[in-house]
Amino acid sequence: MTFLVTERCIRCKYTDCVEVCPVDCFYEGPNMLVIHPEECIDCGLCVPECPVEAIYAEDDLPEKYKNFLALNKKLAKKWPNITRRKAPPVDVELWKDKEDKLQHFEE
Ligand code: SF4
Ligand code: SF4
Repeated sequence: MTFLVTERCIRCKYTDCVEVCPVDCFYEGPNMLVIHPEECIDCGLCVPECPVEAIYAEDDLPEKYKNFLALNKKLAKKWPNITRRKAPPVDVELWKDKEDKLQHFEE
């Protein structure tokens, strides 16, 4: 099992999650993060840190976010590792409560 970042992270990228991960398995894209499924040790520490509840255990992934398993797997191999919190996007307040953000995803 692994934990996964989903659509709710798009254009939010608060990065609170990376500070608590004991194995530094978050990777940063242009407007969201992903978790490397083979590095995650399933500790669950990152879940309560995310202000927009973007992180799910693989077994609890809602049907509408099923494609994020493949996206986390693929992009963790492509994007750079991130281990320190950084400032969120300046317009984060506009996006944090929005649903259906996949159209804004940038690879
Ligand atoms: S805390 Fe949540 S919104 Fe912020 S980067 Fe992590 S998963 Fe994305
Ligand atoms: S569940 Fe634990 S190991 Fe996996 S990404 Fe979250 S903090 Fe890191």
